[in-house]
Amino acid sequence: MAQHDQLHRYLFENFAVRGELVTVSDTWQQIMEHHDYPAPVKTILGELLVATSLLTATLKFDGDITVQLQGDGPMNLAVINGNNNQQMRGVARYKGEIPADADLKTLVGNGYLVITITPAEGERYQGVVGLEGDTLAACLEDYFLRSEQLPTRLFIRTGDVEGKPVAGGMLLQVLPAQDAQADDFNHLAALTETIKAEELLTLPANDVLWRLYHEEEVTLYDPQNVEFKCTCSRERCADALRTLPDEEVNSIIADEGEIDMNCDYCGNHYVFNSMDIAEIRNNASPADPQVH
Ligand SMILES: [Zn+2]
Repeated sequence: MAQHDQLHRYLFENFAVRGELVTVSDTWQQIMEHHDYPAPVKTILGELLVATSLLTATLKFDGDITVQLQGDGPMNLAVINGNNNQQMRGVARYKGEIPADADLKTLVGNGYLVITITPAEGERYQGVVGLEGDTLAACLEDYFLRSEQLPTRLFIRTGDVEGKPVAGGMLLQVLPAQDAQADDFNHLAALTETIKAEELLTLPANDVLWRLYHEEEVTLYDPQNVEFKCTCSRERCADALRTLPDEEVNSIIADEGEIDMNCDYCGNHYVFNSMDIAEIRNNASPADPQVH
């Protein structure tokens, strides 16, 4: 039985191609925990989570990646944010009835896939592609085609294992600055594409690789854990409050007695009373270099 919430990297010894394999279960469930998402929204969040994990694993530096779907459909936003330590969080917004069999196009409508790469140090990069593919994987491949030189393929599967939702994915990418023959890459991609959800979501990684590539020499590296982690904090909420006009804050305090800020990602509440607000304003004096 596979251990979920792990990311594996692997390398083909005879081709300049690398691979990644990830499955997520607890991480996905924790993202959905404080929401009552319709099934198609859950599925797309699982796919986005897998995609974000695979993409962050391609980073050569510390930083994070946000993969976001936005459009004019009933699900106008779905976003997953993850970092190079495979700490993930995400949220979706939707309105109205969502048909149980809604596909990507029905959910997002006319929309975009937005990928934002934020290095811990250095310039932020953002790539935007229209939703032309039928699946998230196809849209991501389109993004790689337009934004990077490295040929990349993604394969994403979702399902249930023993009553729990599990999502998994594989990524193949030509190694930078090496000559992988297009035929070889296409051959490996064709093998990878045959992966069934049941195999990817239930078998240990080395069994999956054996089933797909038993005629190839493949090195599988130690896995990295994937986990749910929200980056919200009381300090960040205080920063957000500082950006609001005083009258607005005063009016909420007058009406409610306190300000209750709720994190969309993890469901945490941060409560500020009038004493807290006074302290925040004190700390926000012009002498404070942190305040812009
Ligand atoms: Zn949070």
